[in-house]
Amino acid sequence: MGYGSFPGNEKVKELLKKMTLSQTLPQALLLKGERLTFKEEIAQELARALLCSQGAEEACGVCPLCRLFGRDEEGRPLTPPDMLILDPPGDLIKIDEVREAIRFIGAHPMVAPKKVVVISDMDRMNQEAQNAFLKVLEEPHPYVNYIMTTGRIDTLLPTILSRSQVFSLQEPKERDLLDYFGLPGREELVLLRERGLRWSEIPEGEKILFSRMRECMDPLFAGGRGSAVAAVKLKELWEEAGREESKRVLRLLLSLAMERGRSLLAEVVKERGKEPWQREVRELLLKTEAIYRESFSNASAEVLLAAFLSSFL
Ligand SMILES: [Zn+2]
Repeated sequence: MGYGSFPGNEKVKELLKKMTLSQTLPQALLLKGERLTFKEEIAQELARALLCSQGAEEACGVCPLCRLFGRDEEGRPLTPPDMLILDPPGDLIKIDEVREAIRFIGAHPMVAPKKVVVISDMDRMNQEAQNAFLKVLEEPHPYVNYIMTTGRIDTLLPTILSRSQVFSLQEPKERDLLDYFGLPGREELVLLRERGLRWSEIPEGEKILFSRMRECMDPLFAGGRGSAVAAVKLKELWEEAGREESKRVLRLLLSLAMERGRSLLAEVVKERGKEPWQREVRELLLKTEAIYRESFSNASAEVLLAAFLSSFL
């Protein structure tokens, strides 16, 4: 781990390290940046450094407090008792979740000398939730640090912004991103950016499944006999995989299909041909649609999917 493990934003990372070392970090700090700026990773790294007992610029990784960041038996990351990550799934951080965080903030630290609260995509709080949270910023507890992230700073209350120090993050160079994620090409990068998927959170097995499925994409869209073969192969891979693990992969794959479909759609609609391979593809896409709908609440993506599917009808 450490800041060096992900690319970009060297100046901001240096500044944060210096501030950590000299203990001059602002109590409320907001990391502002788009999807691929590693704002969540920087927030986590900062939280680790703040809780580490060595007081160095980065977390030492070996002290008893750092070891609380280990992993459980199933490999999931552990959160130390003095750290709270407010990152519920979905588009909203509800007021009840904010209230729960406020209760956490109100209690004294248990093992470390301080507490750290990380709030991911702060802009998911509506006005009411933001106002509730504002109260703790207005009457700060001396032992609590707040690390917030956002991609949409304009939706945050001015009163929250005035009490936070904002650090702007930029997206690293494309080459660095491809290397870091181990992505085959820029198409996947576009997907990560647009759909907000966190590649690092996708387990290795799913990545392998994804790359096997991805190999079918070019022949699938090339038309002719190769398409039918690719469609059958895709179906097989899908049926092989467990439902849960294939869900995220399909989400990614379908996004990829959508991107391809976008350009292909015009041609297919124009010709309206009913080749046998199109039936295969249609069947496959209809099956994926249910899963896709479950995992996406993005209306424009759904419209796109519907248009794409109708082209095979
Ligand atoms: Zn440590």
